[in-house]
Amino acid sequence: MVQGIVSAAYIGASALFIASLSGLSHPESARRGNLYGIVGMVLAVLATALAMNVGGWALLAPSLVIGGIVGALLAARVAMTSMPQLVAVLHSFVGAAASLVGIASFLGNEKHAAGAEAVLHSAELYVGVFVGAVTFAGSIVAWGKLEGKIRSKPLVLPARHGLNLALLLVVIGMGIAFAATVGAPTAGALPLGLLLAMTAIGCFLGWHLVMAIGGADMPVVVSMLNSYSGWAAAAAGFLLGNDLLIVTGALVGSSGAILSYIMCKAMNRSFVSVILGGFGADEGAAPARRPAADGGVEIEPLTILAADLAERLLSAKNIIVVPGYGMAVAQAQHPVKEMTALLRKRGATVRFAIHPVAGRLPGHMNVLLAEAAVPYDLVLEMDEINPDFCHTDVVLVIGANDIVNPGAIDDPSSPIHGMPVLPAWEAAEVIVFKRGKGAGYAGIENPLFVKPNTKMLYGDAKKSMDAILTKLRAPEA
Ligand code: NDP
Repeated sequence: MVQGIVSAAYIGASALFIASLSGLSHPESARRGNLYGIVGMVLAVLATALAMNVGGWALLAPSLVIGGIVGALLAARVAMTSMPQLVAVLHSFVGAAASLVGIASFLGNEKHAAGAEAVLHSAELYVGVFVGAVTFAGSIVAWGKLEGKIRSKPLVLPARHGLNLALLLVVIGMGIAFAATVGAPTAGALPLGLLLAMTAIGCFLGWHLVMAIGGADMPVVVSMLNSYSGWAAAAAGFLLGNDLLIVTGALVGSSGAILSYIMCKAMNRSFVSVILGGFGADEGAAPARRPAADGGVEIEPLTILAADLAERLLSAKNIIVVPGYGMAVAQAQHPVKEMTALLRKRGATVRFAIHPVAGRLPGHMNVLLAEAAVPYDLVLEMDEINPDFCHTDVVLVIGANDIVNPGAIDDPSSPIHGMPVLPAWEAAEVIVFKRGKGAGYAGIENPLFVKPNTKMLYGDAKKSMDAILTKLRAPEA
């Protein structure tokens, strides 16, 4: 009876998770998708508790309460700009959990059976612990890089590919020995030793793989670790005989893999080259300066004041806003929304151009604009809006940098050469909102800032926006 209820709840939760993923694929249905996910997770947790023997509740109940409180506090406190770091930490938990489940399952199963089934079980366990260890260490490094605790420049050890390959071969060799010795009466502590040594190598590989990835490849790495964490959870599901964990892990694993593929495509990078790392090793954070016409002294970028920009906007018919990470830092989305409404009321066309890796997590800009209630039909993806930049009067680049770097197109020596970008410079006029000479995430200079049709509006983007709004709201405007 109980088993029947649990199975039905697991099927319901699986269906809700699938509906959740489908809802999250569009801003209009995202809230509903989120709700499906929450209901599915509550159902899954309740069903798992019901499936446990009553003795296990003493351990489960405090874990649920403490975990729930810590999770709620973290989610409530985290700033939107720190969300990728939180996601990376959560991936590391999944990785650690998968490894621990595997090791616990090995230790708890004292009398290891022999035969084909035992070999299959050992392989399952070994792979689960390995993927978990790689995910755990890799996610910790990703967190450190995103949080600025570890430098984002790639660590390029000599012969690093050879080292990774050699370690992988060692892990496979140890895996064969592990499967052969599990259940053998004379094996003693050898299988456990092999399992723990492989876990240490897995942690080193996770650390090394992500340390070697730098600059603009980090978004793909975060979504790749998302995928790994899903497969690690699925492996734990096999070990625990939990069908829901297998389904959920496979959903996370495959959706993370699809997202990584889409992001690689958007950045014109091959999946293999991202994994092999080293991209952006030659990065230099020097700000761009405009060379003087006579080739002599360098010239600073041109600047504009907020009041003058407000005047200019009043006469512009076609405006494109390019939001980036700096808009999230400044929390400028609300005044940007108000400026959009005021200018549209006066008959101007104002649209938003969204680059697939703008900000610090997939969909970051869409979330901010949705939060400020910017109408969805004004928000266009890169492929939809790129042909329109050349017919635009003013482009407002608000806290964006790497995603509007012309070097990606016309400078073969640029570390991001080949990455598709938003061609802001094709507009009649470009205004860049930023605080100073800081480089973008990839740490490279941006020739856009020194183009003759570009002007810099220095200062915090929200303060600049507020100053523009004061002008636009004035009765004489
Ligand atoms: P960038 O990181 O390239 O640039 C952000 C700019 O915002 C900086 O030049 C900074 O200049 C400016 N800025 C910061 N704070 C403020 C503020 N308060 N007011 C005004 N300006 C501010 O951002 P993009 O969105 O253009 O590009 C995203 C980058 O992040 C890409 O390289 C991408 O690969 C990477 N990335 C993306 C992830 C994703 O999933 N989307 C995940 C991880 C990395 P200054 O300091 O001078 O103000």
